[in-house]
Amino acid sequence: MAHSSCILAQDAALALHVGEKMNEYVRSQLEFLRELSDLDSRVSELQTKMKEKETALATLKEKLSKNKEEYATRTHQLKESEHAEHSEEVKLKEAEAELKKAQILLNSAQRNEEYNILLKKRDSIRSQISALEDAALARLAEIDSARARLAELTKELSHEEEGLKAASEQTKKEVDALQNEVDKLLLRREELKTKISSEIFTRYERVLNKEKRRVVVCIKDGICQGCYRTITPEQINTIMRGESLIYCRNCNRILYLQEPEQQTLPEEGGSAPDSSN
Ligand SMILES: [Zn+2]
Repeated sequence: MAHSSCILAQDAALALHVGEKMNEYVRSQLEFLRELSDLDSRVSELQTKMKEKETALATLKEKLSKNKEEYATRTHQLKESEHAEHSEEVKLKEAEAELKKAQILLNSAQRNEEYNILLKKRDSIRSQISALEDAALARLAEIDSARARLAELTKELSHEEEGLKAASEQTKKEVDALQNEVDKLLLRREELKTKISSEIFTRYERVLNKEKRRVVVCIKDGICQGCYRTITPEQINTIMRGESLIYCRNCNRILYLQEPEQQTLPEEGGSAPDSSN
């Protein structure tokens, strides 16, 4: 037997009678619960959006702070290089002065032995100077490239700071708007809470906390749209009689039969259920 197609055929036909047969109190409870469930889904959606926006902003902030760190490190390194360059220059000047002295001594050397010693000393100072000059050139190249990178970073930082400022303002606006919507929904939620029996409300919240998703779901093709298990025909009949709310035996969600005119509407239609008064 094609059980589900049988129920599918019955769904629409049976649902037509739901309104007439359903106990007025149960019907109104179910309507409030459906609104509550839509509302909770919307709140959760809005909260997720807020989190996404805040995370995106935090990522931008993190990037800026990393670049600032790099800027600070490079500035510090540049200062050290400049400091080293300065002391290397002093050393070079000292060596040059020493070379002059050595040359004078060499020129006035009397004996061969003395001359040879002074010659060696002079040559050693010369190679020392040559090494210092090489180092100075390398140091200057290093300083130049460090300054160039810092200039680039300065531009990047100012660009990023501007971007972050704009993004912060935009995010704040968007998050405020979302929060505003959430606050309104939560006010309505408080109202709904007073209209729903506290026992049912407690049960609703228990399922909500467990499933973190929609608690009031419809039956489509004889299947619970929360957990996708089959609902027995007896349960569907009980819903039809409308004497009490029916909970899915598997997931505990509150079940309702889709009214025929709503079947073509998307789940998140957002509009309030049609009042048939
Ligand atoms: Zn279920």
